Amino acid sequence: MTLSFGPLLAALALLLVCAALIAQPLMGARRSARRTVSEREALQLRRADIVRGLRELDLDARTGKLDPADYARLRAERQTEGAEVLRKLDALGGLAPRDVDAEIEAAVSALRAGRHCPACGASHAANDRFCPACGKPLAGGKPA
Ligand SMILES: [Zn+2]
Repeated sequence: MTLSFGPLLAALALLLVCAALIAQPLMGARRSARRTVSEREALQLRRADIVRGLRELDLDARTGKLDPADYARLRAERQTEGAEVLRKLDALGGLAPRDVDAEIEAAVSALRAGRHCPACGASHAANDRFCPACGKPLAGGKPA
């Protein structure tokens, strides 16, 4: 009886090693995906925390609860931390601030090109005949 345990244990050990080798990449992939999600969530929570902290600091400074020197120091610390969190979020593709940049860029270039409604100031495409915001006829548009 004791003699047959040797090969059985060896086979069992081999099986376990094989199972571990097969499972490891699968588990690893799942673990890293979850880590990215939870890391982003953690960063977003951190960001909300920092924003809340900054608001509290502002309030404390306004109500005289905080020394101006302390306020300046704490605020600078929070802002540095906040910038770091935003940078990490950006690296994870978290908040996509570049899309906002592109929108602002488009609005600014439309304004620079003078493509804005004289009635309401909304920007519009070069070939628009009517303002997309207020519907007024646009002088720049080609006549019908
Ligand atoms: Zn308009």
